[in-house]
Parts: sequence; structure tokens; C-alpha cells
Amino acid sequence: MQSISPEIIFRGNDAWEKALPQISKFTNSPLILGRSFNTYDLRNKIFRDLKNQNIFANTTNLKFDCCYEDISRVKNTILDNSHDSVIACGGGKVLDAGKYIAELLNIPCITVPFSASTCAGWTALSNIYTKNGQFIRDVALRSCPKVLVYDHKFIQTAPSRTLASGIADALAKWYESSITSSTIDDGLVQQAIQISRVLRDQLLIDGEKAYKGQFENKPSWRNTIEACGLTAGLVGGIGGEKCRTAAAHAIHNAITQIITPNKFLHGEIVGVGLLLQLRLEEMKNNNKLADQSIKQLFALMKALNLPTTIGQLGINVFENNNLEKIADFTCRDNSEIHFLPFEINKLDIIEVISNFEQQKIKI
Ligand SMILES: [Zn+2]
Repeated sequence: MQSISPEIIFRGNDAWEKALPQISKFTNSPLILGRSFNTYDLRNKIFRDLKNQNIFANTTNLKFDCCYEDISRVKNTILDNSHDSVIACGGGKVLDAGKYIAELLNIPCITVPFSASTCAGWTALSNIYTKNGQFIRDVALRSCPKVLVYDHKFIQTAPSRTLASGIADALAKWYESSITSSTIDDGLVQQAIQISRVLRDQLLIDGEKAYKGQFENKPSWRNTIEACGLTAGLVGGIGGEKCRTAAAHAIHNAITQIITPNKFLHGEIVGVGLLLQLRLEEMKNNNKLADQSIKQLFALMKALNLPTTIGQLGINVFENNNLEKIADFTCRDNSEIHFLPFEINKLDIIEVISNFEQQKIKI
């Protein structure tokens, strides 16, 4: 069974207003789930708009992260108040928590991303973290959300940093899926990889323009936010489980074990992981194109003010056994790193990271 996309997608300016009549057909008592204080006004607008349709919603926020503590508390709130749907409004953590809770309770989930930092509004996947933001596991859900509302006016209010982060995460789709899945004999997977290549090209063309002109709502910005929030989700939907992540996300997951909670966004960490993955490909797989890709990505990441080393994520890898801790978690048994078509061990990770952090290899 494969769930390729949300049942209904509303996109563009005023997508929320267009979605309202549809949403009112299947929910009378939704729970609006959010997190950040900065997006309170948007959630309040959603609450008022629902009320005007005679839909009486409750609101609650994640206290920590998409973690078991918050999931079980929000689940109980829904059960105690007999809510009949979840409207998850925010970034990836909120969207992931909303989807997961809705699935546990067998009620519909409506995702309303408030930034382009993630494709979590689309996908049938939730990443679970600890209260302190350390990655635990990802959970494959039975289905994508029932409704995705990708309202450009909402997304335009997000800090441009979230767009940069979304670009880095979406770029990883091509670099990860092409190395892990190019030998899979499945037409849909191959086509998903090709879409992720087109997605990468779009971001290389438009990403910087979009980032610098975010508040002008130009075609480059619209193309970029839709690439990050929609196309990246479509790649995951069509490619399914076989269209896998690889080293960039494995290294991200390891870095979350030691990083200051909530200081850096998912894509900001994945971007650093992506540069390291390409170095691994060069070192272990003799990939001559990897250096070219690093140069290309590095220039874009600099233009987007993205971190490009683990040091810039606030971690000195040469202190507190950090290097060993990252290598251990990256290479643990069920890590995505083992989807790479060549063997990777802890020493490889230590070598590639320590060279990279000391900039022994010039970019
Ligand atoms: Zn990601």
C-alpha cells in the first residue's frame, strides 16, 4: 500500500479561504495544533475563520517537540473533548505530530504549513524526537494528510531562514535518492528520482533569487516554496520507502543527539550532512562529480546564509568525544547510512568530518 499524496491540495494565495468550505464538510470540532509564539496570530485567524463557519475549534500547542510526551498529552486532549480532526498549523515538528496523532486516533488530519522549511505537510511520514529534540525514529504512516492547505500568504510571513532550510532539505532529495535507489528496478522509483533532479535544478536556478526576494512574492519565490513544500513531498510519495534518504539525514540524526535543542532547523543540519555525504562519496566511491557538486552547493548555501560546517552549528567536534558520538550514531545498525551502495564505518565518518571541519580539503 502506498499513499502518494494528500486527498485534496489547496495552493496559492488565499488557499486557506478556498479550503474552508471543503473542511467544514467533514469536521465539526477540530483541534488546532501549533507551537511557536510567533505564529499565534495566524492560528488565531484560523480559529476565527472556523468559528465564522460555525465550526468550534480548540487550540493546543506542542510544549517541546514531536515527542512521545507531547503526542500522548495532545491525544488525550482530543479524546477528552471528542475532537473529530486535527488541523496542524506550523513547521515540520507540528505537522509531523499532528499527522501521527490523527493516525493513532483514526481521525482526519489537515496540514497547514506556515513556512517552506519542510515537505511534512504532504508526506505520510512522521519523525519522532525526544523532548530535547534528539532524533529517535521515523514512522511510516498509513496515509498522507486528508487536506493540505499551502497558503502562500501564510508562508510569506515566515522568516527567510526557514526558506533557506527548506531549500537545503529539498536539495538532499536528489543527492540521497539518486545514490541509494538508482539501481532499483521499479519505474515509479526511477521517475521519483528524476523528479528530484528537476526539483534540484529548479532550486539551483531560483533558490537564491527566492531567498533574497521573499517578500516580493515573485515567480521565483512561488516556484521555490512549492518545490520545497509540494514537489519534495511528491518525490517521497511516488518513490515511497524505496526512495530512501542516506548519509545527509543519517548525519543530521546523529548531530541532533548533541546539538542545543531548537537552535537550528532541520534543513540547516541536513545541508551540512549533504556536504559530508558528497565527501564520503568522493572518498569511498571514487565519485569524481562529488567535488563539483560540493562547490555548487557550497556557493548556494553561502548565498542562503546556511551553515556549512558542524562548527557553524555550534558544535566543536574535537571536544567531548563529539566526533565519536556523531560517528557512533551515524553508523548504528538501523541507520540510513547503510543504504549507501558502499560500506561505511565509524572511522570513515571520523576521517571525513575531521578533514572537513579543519578544512584540510579546500572547497
Ligand atoms: Zn529532511
